[in-house]
Amino acid sequence: MTDLLDLPLPDVASAVQRGETTAEAVTLASLARIERDADLGAFLHVAKDAAVAAARQVDEKRRRGEPLGKLAGVPIGIKDALCTKDAPTTCASKILVRKRPGAAPDPADGFRPPYDATVVARLRAADAVLVGKTNMDEFAMGSSNENSAFGNVRNPWDRSRTPGGSSGGSAACVAARLVSGSLGSDTGGSIRQPAGLTGIVGVKPTYGRVSRYGLVAFASSLDQVGPFAADARSAARILEVIAGHDPRDSTSSDLPVGAYEAACDRPLEKLRVGVPEEYFAEGLDADVSASVRAAIDALAAEGASLTKVSMPHTRYGLATYYIVATAEASSNLARFDGVRFGLREEAAGADLQQMYAATRGAGFGPEVKRRIMLGTYALAAGYYDAYYKKAQQVRTLIKQDFDRAFSNVDVLLTPISPTPAFELGEKTEDPVTMYLSDVYTLPASLAGVCALSVPCAATPARADRPELPVGLQVIAPAFAEERLFQVAAAWERLSPFRGRAPARAS
Ligand code: GLN
Repeated sequence: MTDLLDLPLPDVASAVQRGETTAEAVTLASLARIERDADLGAFLHVAKDAAVAAARQVDEKRRRGEPLGKLAGVPIGIKDALCTKDAPTTCASKILVRKRPGAAPDPADGFRPPYDATVVARLRAADAVLVGKTNMDEFAMGSSNENSAFGNVRNPWDRSRTPGGSSGGSAACVAARLVSGSLGSDTGGSIRQPAGLTGIVGVKPTYGRVSRYGLVAFASSLDQVGPFAADARSAARILEVIAGHDPRDSTSSDLPVGAYEAACDRPLEKLRVGVPEEYFAEGLDADVSASVRAAIDALAAEGASLTKVSMPHTRYGLATYYIVATAEASSNLARFDGVRFGLREEAAGADLQQMYAATRGAGFGPEVKRRIMLGTYALAAGYYDAYYKKAQQVRTLIKQDFDRAFSNVDVLLTPISPTPAFELGEKTEDPVTMYLSDVYTLPASLAGVCALSVPCAATPARADRPELPVGLQVIAPAFAEERLFQVAAAWERLSPFRGRAPARAS
């Protein structure tokens, strides 16, 4: 039998539903691959026993003749920012991990949430098998996964390079085909950028499309949960399961969930595609630019009509995002104080203030501290109008750029990231260089629209870098996710990248 983990996710679910294999067999295959590729650093916690037990329950259900869900027996990785009641949740931060005397902090001692995030509960209800919690940048702050307190994640295309971030583990485990899909969170690009750098599909749904209940908050007006999978149809299947109104998240929308999987079969004819000139500016790698333009031309040859558009406020996206996101983070992260969860640093005779300071000093890593300080400054009395209020006003201008563009076109096509995957350590010295890797993903987040990354090509191998995947970004108006899948699947039928996966580790 072909190895099921190399096939699209719907094929895995069908094989389990029809009894051609068992959920247990698929789960064991996934766990074996996770162990084989442990050097990728993709997982912080592998839920071996819980996964096998869940798989057996799915098989039992089938034996009883009950119909199985849309994700029957499908192994899924969960970003460690999502609460899971049967596994620790650490956000890759020491502050959520209890200390054991004389031992290094271990994610196994992480915070145990008393409940599942809504998205996690929905996956379980669809008979998916949750195989583990994936590595990430601490509290989802970063673009390379190098801000994890528990080690780097490696890119399966070249292990000396980053898989991107912050959902680096969720991207790497899908790219290496350790699982059939995973969940990440995207605040300013953390699903799309790692999907682009590892050659898979990653979807940032419209703000409000997917419940945030049980997602540890980074920047609440931007955070969205979304899927990773090897292809558009597989990602569409996961989004159909996790999307939809949740009374526990007041910002979740009650608009009906679209038929995302069916949208993958829609032809492109008459689709109006906008190409924003500001996204092809200075600093864009020549190979990335050539691959993205070739994809756009191929889609036009398939029947889409192309229009050049201008989005003049794109250049303010980065500055605006790093004020709004840090301001919200500084407030959200105030809850980690040594009292309620995880770490507590307490010297003998210390008062409450000293305990807070010692805990936060020891528990947060340098990037998280930088964000808290930037955000606290931006919100401070006297600076609020100059920074936070101004950023909110510019955010409106950025949103208006999208409104204007979408009055003439159905989708926008852009690069995901200015360069292919960079070397581990290449950008850690200079935070601003790291922030710049998000220029193409931040505006859609600020505007609250939906977007995805679909692989568009591999760069030609050169002396200084091997072949590396390039992502194409498709952006659509709020709640028009169906269009994202329509375009991504149409592109996959033409793509030179079709069927490509990284070489397997020996
Ligand atoms: N890289 C961006 C940041 O560091 C985006 C992170 C995200 O989307 N979670 O904030």
